[in-house]
Amino acid sequence: MKISQIDVYQVDLPYAGGTYRLSGGREYTSFDATIVRITTDTGITGFGESTPFGATYVAAHALGVRAGIAEIAPHLIGLDPRRVDRVYDAMDASLVGHAHAKAAIDVACWDVFGKAVGMPVCDLLGGRTDMPMGLISSIYTGEPDDMRARVQAHREAGYRGHSFKLGEDPRDNAKQIQACVADAQPGEYFLADANGGMSVEVALRTLRLMPADADIILEAPCATWREHMSLRKRSNIPLVWDELANSEVSVAQLIAEDAAEGIGLKISKNGGLTACRRQRDLCIAAGYTMSVQETTGSDIAFAAIVHMGQTVPSRLLRCVLDTRDMVSVKTADGDFQPQDGWISAPTAPGLGIEPRMDVLGEPVASYS
Ligand SMILES: [Mg+2]
Repeated sequence: MKISQIDVYQVDLPYAGGTYRLSGGREYTSFDATIVRITTDTGITGFGESTPFGATYVAAHALGVRAGIAEIAPHLIGLDPRRVDRVYDAMDASLVGHAHAKAAIDVACWDVFGKAVGMPVCDLLGGRTDMPMGLISSIYTGEPDDMRARVQAHREAGYRGHSFKLGEDPRDNAKQIQACVADAQPGEYFLADANGGMSVEVALRTLRLMPADADIILEAPCATWREHMSLRKRSNIPLVWDELANSEVSVAQLIAEDAAEGIGLKISKNGGLTACRRQRDLCIAAGYTMSVQETTGSDIAFAAIVHMGQTVPSRLLRCVLDTRDMVSVKTADGDFQPQDGWISAPTAPGLGIEPRMDVLGEPVASYS
């Protein structure tokens, strides 16, 4: 089997909640999705998606996804897409870095692989755990009462995990934390996520102002490795890394330095399913928890999340993020609807999705 054509589609995904606000005054109202279709000489096709969270979240942006694919795609024609590591070698040989551009192609290869052998991607990644996966909410930063209400709305929809976003002011942060955990129920967990927006000083002041009994995990407090390590040495709060844990190398270093209790494993940020598979195994060996997520994205991105999440042993799987909850456009259909806050990966071959070609429209680029 050989890759005969690679088509690239562009879809705008408006944020479903109006304006999403992060630390540092970052605001997002819509996301620019790149979707890849790989066609093989046997007629089997596969799909993958890469949707950066704007251009100010991590070192990734939508124009870069498509520019990266333009560099890579001509080198992949004629390769066997089922040999996912070898395709990844060819991508690395044609473009250094730019994992988010490689991710969409890599996921499409796994989709082809699954369809070719009649198995769902989660089984090719090591095997389905058969455990339903808990969903986590994504609560953008705002007024404490409003954040509390949005946590409650997700609680009523069955969510047991809540990721709420902090800002840069220690007193505001403490009030937001207090509001978000105020109605905590047994079995719930809370990730206070600063998305790298705090200095060490602000993080330390926030921790000192936090309610003494607040049962939270602090996620991505600072922007740099040095700041995280400084905070790590001076606090005993459980830490999860996200934006800075983005490759096999960074995850290996995290473990070696005992710098975290877990990571946010985001498929495109971390380089696609092939790269995430390696990072998953490092995390399992280290006893790290994993939140399997995406920067954002539509149904195709979410399909990759649920297949990877479905292979993480349940004691280490913190949650999966239903990115579809964040966007108001549907790009594919599949058998993976949440039931009271729980979800399982589709059982159909490949990703188990049927893309909506009318939503994808005409390709913006094609390589053959
Ligand atoms: Mg995060």
